Amino acid sequence: MKGLYNLLLVHNLFLTVKIAVTGTPGTGKTTVSNLFEEQGRKVLHLTEYVKEKGLGEQSDEFEVDVPQMKKALDDEDFEVVEGHLSHHVSVDVCIVLRTRPDVLRERLDDREYSKEKIEENVESEVLDVILSEAVGLQEIVIEVDTTEKDAEEVFEEIKEKIDVGESDYGNFDWTEYL
Ligand code: ADP
Ligand code: MN
Repeated sequence: MKGLYNLLLVHNLFLTVKIAVTGTPGTGKTTVSNLFEEQGRKVLHLTEYVKEKGLGEQSDEFEVDVPQMKKALDDEDFEVVEGHLSHHVSVDVCIVLRTRPDVLRERLDDREYSKEKIEENVESEVLDVILSEAVGLQEIVIEVDTTEKDAEEVFEEIKEKIDVGESDYGNFDWTEYL
């Protein structure tokens, strides 16, 4: 019986771990999180959450107070946390979504972002800013490229890589786009 139990645990790693989905704005975090939700996983959308709870200060943009955010999340029950600051949350596996800079720029163009904000985000993606932060904060970091995949394919890749249970990053060099 214990053997079977272990076997079940191994095969359902994806179902039992706490997951953060982070990445530069436009990489597809919210879209793929909706698929987690459809599968019955409890998802916390961090960008909305911090605003609702007032965990920061509103100036030009909403400046999140990260320590305050982390503290508030200690009292929340969730299986998946998504947002561009979610790598600060203590989780078992941190997924970092990546998008090739030219495609990311197109996705952000479709949003009502200023040119300045678009370029700032594209540059941050080229320089691996969120990935580097995640690697400094989390034990298991898994990068998933969303450039030429639809949300379902991204979701499947996340599941497969989580079931492997090991870090997997450092696969992209987009410095030519600088
Ligand atoms: P984020 O939450 O990371 O800012 P969104 O999920 O809001 O990103 O997606 C940003 C834009 O990119 C949306 O227009 C969305 O439809 C599109 N998008 C999201 N995921 C993909 C994908 N895998 N392939 C192509 N376009 C995507
Ligand atoms: Mn989002």
